[in-house]
Amino acid sequence: MAKIISGKEVSEEIKEQLKGEVEELKKQGIFPGLAVIIVGDDPASRVYVNNKKKACERIGIYSEEYALSADVSEDEILSLIDELNRKDSISGILVQLPLPKHISEKNVIERINPKKDVDAFHPVNVGKIMTGDYDFVPCTPAGIMELIDRSGVLVEGKECVVIGRSNIVGKPMAMLLLHRNGTVTVCHSRTKNLREKTKNADILVAAVGKPNFVTGDMVKEGAVVIDVGINRLENKKLVGDVDFETAEKKAAAITPVPGGVGPMTIAMLMKNTVKAAVINKTGR
Ligand code: NAD
Repeated sequence: MAKIISGKEVSEEIKEQLKGEVEELKKQGIFPGLAVIIVGDDPASRVYVNNKKKACERIGIYSEEYALSADVSEDEILSLIDELNRKDSISGILVQLPLPKHISEKNVIERINPKKDVDAFHPVNVGKIMTGDYDFVPCTPAGIMELIDRSGVLVEGKECVVIGRSNIVGKPMAMLLLHRNGTVTVCHSRTKNLREKTKNADILVAAVGKPNFVTGDMVKEGAVVIDVGINRLENKKLVGDVDFETAEKKAAAITPVPGGVGPMTIAMLMKNTVKAAVINKTGR
């Protein structure tokens, strides 16, 4: 039986800790604030934004929401970002993706002041992650690193396999594991003999977006398995990219879905927002 790594519990601990930090910062005149921009009425995006607002309230972070209609122009979003970049009460700016097709996500992300880019999607922050000299790490990979650390497994020298090469999960995940001296293999839709690679993984991260894609026969005995996937089945059930039942029999530790990586992502967003407040106030 694998150890279940509960992102729910760990994220609660992190949020409690942040609450204390925010209280201390406020005494020093540093007030973290998060602005969230949401465009259109995608139900999943609405749930994410509501959860982010709730987390802010819980920790004592000031938050503003800008809910824009799906036909808003790119120029309007860019001017809003300019305004938020200038606003002292806002230390972090988050644009909930995806955006409607007529708006360039690239233009929008590049308009955010990198020091307020709490998602770490701006090219400046992406570059910093590459060199290892970073302020902000994208929230999902950052949360995964916390979970791996808490599984008690050292990354150094381990075979790490990341399935998925997206800019928000797979690629930054691979870099973080590399910075910790893991031997990293990135697999993707064109990878041949995937099972051969995953069978070799001491640490296996699945960020594919396909329900129950990683089955027990793909997992090495004693591996740490991190399931990033959030897939809604037709019967409304939420499942990950890992077939929990079969993978759990092989793994030493595994994250569940829900209650694994998901809650960590929000906790890390809060952490980045607090960090941004300090950076914007003190330049450090
Ligand atoms: P994406 O669609 O951008 O990327 C999926 C990746 O999977 C691609 O790089 C692709 O090459 C790879 N892939 C597809 N088919 C494959 C196959 N047959 N074999 C090997 N690789 C294959 O997705 P993403 O944004 O990285 O998200 C991945 C999953 O993680 C989704 O389910 C998403 O909902 C979830 N997600 C969760 C969180 C969280 O907070 N828990 C955050 C972001 C994404």
